[in-house]
Amino acid sequence: IIEIKNLSKSYEDNEVLKDINFSVNKGEVVCIIGSSGSGKSTLLRCINLLENINGGKILYKGKDILQNDSHHYRTKLGMVFQQFNLFNNYNVLENCTIGPLKVIKKSQDNARNIALKYLEVVGMDSYIEYMPKYLSGGQKQRVAIARALSMEPDVILFDEPTSALDPEMVGEVLKVMRKLADTGLTMLIVTHEMDFAREVADKIVFMDNGIIKEEGSPKQIFNSPKEKRTREFLRRIL
Ligand code: ATP
Ligand code: MG
Repeated sequence: IIEIKNLSKSYEDNEVLKDINFSVNKGEVVCIIGSSGSGKSTLLRCINLLENINGGKILYKGKDILQNDSHHYRTKLGMVFQQFNLFNNYNVLENCTIGPLKVIKKSQDNARNIALKYLEVVGMDSYIEYMPKYLSGGQKQRVAIARALSMEPDVILFDEPTSALDPEMVGEVLKVMRKLADTGLTMLIVTHEMDFAREVADKIVFMDNGIIKEEGSPKQIFNSPKEKRTREFLRRIL
């Protein structure tokens, strides 16, 4: 559903992504792992057009997004950030309806029903009137996931969704993500949660210094990595 071809990205003369090639198929869970500074967040930001790219192409359903309707493409991608990025002046329900109302012009009733459906999926349907500041980190992140789902995207990108959480809240967010994976949602996830990646991913992409050093099934990457850098990274993190 998404294909990245020869993508490169520089900040000034610092080339942070070099000739990146990979794809995410419909229904797949792809996890991106790698050290700090290897370019994982930049890659996600390029894919959802928060950054201009310097070279290469991003194809969505076979079409070059930069040559086509990038507004439509954006509405088809959800994003979940490390820091939740909820709208703090809106309650939980409004956080989930505002995108559908404003961006895809859903009716009030329709937006509300869809939002309620996804708030139930993440277990936050009894908090619809709460303002974000009264929620725990895990609850905020579950609302952020419901907000992304409420746009009914084809793919959701997650950038370290559990890294800002207290340890006791990591589990509730991963549980929701596992559930979504089981329903066949297409997900591209930057994560340091190796147990989660091993269990849930269809494919692991290991990034090192702006390149994809190795990609493969969880079994292949975790049990028999080919590259020395992959082995070193896994030894440090596991
Ligand atoms: P982490 O695991 O710490 O989140 P990461 O793999 O997500 O790391 P990126 O945030 O993508 O790494 O950063 C990759 C490189 O790009 C780093 O060297 C970083 O300093 C640089 N970089 C990122 N954003 C910018 C920016 N807006 N301007 C200049 N350099 C940037
Ligand atoms: Mg990052």
